[in-house]
Amino acid sequence: MENKPNILLIYTGGTIGMIKEFETGALRNFNFNDLLKHIPELNLLDCTIETTSFEQPIDSSNMNPGYWVDLASIIERNYSDFDGFVVLHGSDTMSYTSSALSFMLENLSKPVIFTGSQLPIGDLRTDAKENLITSIQIAALQEKGKPVIREVGLYFEYKLYRANRTTKINAEHFEAFDSLNYPPLIESGVHLTVQKDLLQRSNLKKKFKVNKQLESKILLLKMFPGMDSDTFNYLLDYPQLKGVILETYGSGNVPHQPWLLDKIAELIERGIPVVNVTQCAGGSVSMGLYETSIGLKRLGVISGKDITTEAAVAKMMYLLGQQISGVSFKTLFETSLRGEMQ
Ligand code: ASP
Repeated sequence: MENKPNILLIYTGGTIGMIKEFETGALRNFNFNDLLKHIPELNLLDCTIETTSFEQPIDSSNMNPGYWVDLASIIERNYSDFDGFVVLHGSDTMSYTSSALSFMLENLSKPVIFTGSQLPIGDLRTDAKENLITSIQIAALQEKGKPVIREVGLYFEYKLYRANRTTKINAEHFEAFDSLNYPPLIESGVHLTVQKDLLQRSNLKKKFKVNKQLESKILLLKMFPGMDSDTFNYLLDYPQLKGVILETYGSGNVPHQPWLLDKIAELIERGIPVVNVTQCAGGSVSMGLYETSIGLKRLGVISGKDITTEAAVAKMMYLLGQQISGVSFKTLFETSLRGEMQ
């Protein structure tokens, strides 16, 4: 008899695991171990499901690198016993956590699928059931006994995306996420349509490894017209600062101001990497295209190319955590490590 895939569901918190108290209308977490009782449809899936949960489930606004390590450790501990993992997570910071996990889980050869919902699982009009059921199906997808997905994905509203390409784009619509620079890996209609040529293909011979060192003394700075030079200098003078991400205009442009370029030159001299990502939801940084970015390029600012801000934050914490600096940091940041950039 063929063995059914064994899937581990990990609940970290968020709306998906909540029900409304009938009397008061208040939202509360339900006992996650009772999941199969609440969604008996799960028993119809062609896989076995086990569940585990953060001891104290959290709203994902409280997520931080410490919790990312907790989550990665749960996957590490259970890696050999399961064929796939589904992580239930609040949607607010799901793109950050899933991007971080994509870097932390090296040589991943099993699916890790993040999902959540806009409405609680106990709500009549909930999107949670479809998101959960299809995420489990995707985590259980196999071809010739091997998982089809071997990367960190994010499933929401009929689409599986590469997680480190996603951004939360809507606080209201069921279609809460988008991936503007990379097409969906799977679309769910009557059938699951898998775009095989878009999938990450890990070398199955390489050993799975979990990187838990993350450096969070970094700064993410969004450019806006009228940014004050004193404030800019003050923030960047922080002595413990380890890395800076500039969210720039369009294809990587900043005001053509000596105070700004001088400060960036000083940072780079201090050995602090400065990464340029665009604040546009889609498209890429291309330093040198305009006069307003050529200065950054000459100073040695790192191009984030078409990376999302979420993935840039995760990648910077990960690379700094690996004690990578200088030229190697620039080279590695500008190289796609987990399909996060072109
Ligand atoms: N604030 C919630 C969270 O991110 C929203 C959600 O669950 O989607 O945890």
